[in-house]
Amino acid sequence: MMDAAVFRAWIVSAAAVVEANRDHLTQLDAAIGDADHGTNLARGFTAVLGALDAAGVSAAEPMVPGAILTLTGNTLISKVGGASGPLYGTAFRRAGKALGDAADVELPALAAALEAALAGVQQLGAAREGDKTMVDALAPATRAFGKAVAEGASATDALGALAEAAEAGAQATIPMQALKGRASYLGPRSVGHEDPGAVSTALILGALRDAAR
Ligand code: ADP
Ligand code: MG
Ligand code: MG
Repeated sequence: MMDAAVFRAWIVSAAAVVEANRDHLTQLDAAIGDADHGTNLARGFTAVLGALDAAGVSAAEPMVPGAILTLTGNTLISKVGGASGPLYGTAFRRAGKALGDAADVELPALAAALEAALAGVQQLGAAREGDKTMVDALAPATRAFGKAVAEGASATDALGALAEAAEAGAQATIPMQALKGRASYLGPRSVGHEDPGAVSTALILGALRDAAR
């Protein structure tokens, strides 16, 4: 269903969309954080592209989808400081581990990988939905995707539901007061701003939808 080429295209597309939105993400973080989210993620995904290229030329066997995601996670953890590096790194590593060494990923396996990613983020960061973090995009997106897959939706429809729910989840962070991360230091003054990590999550999941088209 979805092979390594699709997963590689996802990461390449995610890197491009993060780069294109670098200043926007940093401006969102300037309002309620320390103005580094876009630069953090852009640096991380640039390193990921380098790591994928290096692995692609040296490996005798082409990388399977799970290995692509694990390499992405490992690279983000080592190259991105702050809160988002370890959180995104864990998400990709857990997803990669969940996919195992399958060469082709079916929709239910991808749903399970997204659930594993979400669980990893929540174990590490202890954020719940409503705390104004990336969880507010990732959790509804994971739910919407799982529901669509369970109902027998096509890949296009299920990935469309994933991306739409992530975007709606990011927008829903605007009226929230941050209870986790740097933005929580602002207390009620964090209200009225979109959470940068929720926005980047929506961008990255949108890139998955686009890569699978
Ligand atoms: P830092 O806040 O360390 O500068 P970034 O600016 O790169 O790191 O990332 C900030 C984003 O990380 C926030 O917008 C939020 O979505 C996410 N985040 C922060 N803390 C947590 C947490 N405990 N759980 C989930 N996400 C978090
Ligand atoms: Mg920041
Ligand atoms: Mg920072």
